[in-house]
Amino acid sequence: MKQLSSEELLTKIEKAHLVGRGGSGYSTATKWKEMFAKHHDSIYMAVNGSEGEPGTLKDGYILKNCLPDLLYGISQAYVIFPQTKSIYLYLRKDYFETYKDAIENELKNSVPTLPLLMFKEPGGYLCGENTVLVNAIEQKRLEPRRKPPYISEKGLFDKPTIVNNLETFYQIGKIAKDEYRDTRLYSITGAITNPGVYEEANTITVFELLAKTNNVLGDTMFVQLGGGASGIYLTKEELAQTPANRGTGALIIYDSTTCSFLSLLTEKLQFLIGENCGKCTPCREGLYRMHEMVTKGQWNETLAKDIAETLAKTSFCGLGVGAGNAFVSLFTKKDQLWKK
Ligand code: SF4
Repeated sequence: MKQLSSEELLTKIEKAHLVGRGGSGYSTATKWKEMFAKHHDSIYMAVNGSEGEPGTLKDGYILKNCLPDLLYGISQAYVIFPQTKSIYLYLRKDYFETYKDAIENELKNSVPTLPLLMFKEPGGYLCGENTVLVNAIEQKRLEPRRKPPYISEKGLFDKPTIVNNLETFYQIGKIAKDEYRDTRLYSITGAITNPGVYEEANTITVFELLAKTNNVLGDTMFVQLGGGASGIYLTKEELAQTPANRGTGALIIYDSTTCSFLSLLTEKLQFLIGENCGKCTPCREGLYRMHEMVTKGQWNETLAKDIAETLAKTSFCGLGVGAGNAFVSLFTKKDQLWKK
């Protein structure tokens, strides 16, 4: 197969309308073309395999089943940016430990000149945020950085840095080989018969995706779409109108007869309290206060909604913003999700 030039690869990525698969949905071509146009002497790159969003399994699936395709995609990114000093393959702990040897072998056999360094993520959910990833690699405090400067200008070791989700690199490999069919990997988990990772069209609705994967929802079931920490909640009636390609492409199914509102809320709050960094007041205090309302029997729906909206609007980073949006959706639809 003929190796394409940097420009040819960028044009193909642009024509494929690829958007990042880590949750932001930002155009990969726009981000990479901006970096390319600046002709930096040297940059860094990171492949984000943190996959901390609960219910998301796709990056692990790629590492297990599609390692040559992933490394090929990373090698094509290196063709576009040959001035890259190092490419960090940033993996959450269990992925690092499980796939380290296989990655080393595959690297040696297929792309031995790729300047790829494997890095074991030191923490949890928040470490997937791009500026925390940079801090983690630089062995700094695990909290988000203020922007600007953006990491595309001043990232790893003060150099311009590209960070993209692991699946994004996998899809770039497919684009380079003309095998990309406008699909993405969806993770389906929860109270359902056929959980797993499925590659389906970007444009598929939640209803179509569940039907195609033989996952039939009973009347008492509902979906959280986009990930367990930041995903929005959907009633059964909303499934047919809602594209499934939100956030990390994760669908978690709940059954309202086996999962009460307060138990679900408690689980989400405990997770977020354990993962937030405490840097900003809306997130730190807002999550704590909501948890207190639940555990002390002081539940106040109006106040909880106020806190969630404040989280969504004023938090310093995506953890608080995403959690706030998820809670607003949960509180707004509570009566439809748990029908009496
Ligand atoms: S939103 Fe939460 S995780 Fe993000 S900076 Fe604030 S306290 Fe830390």
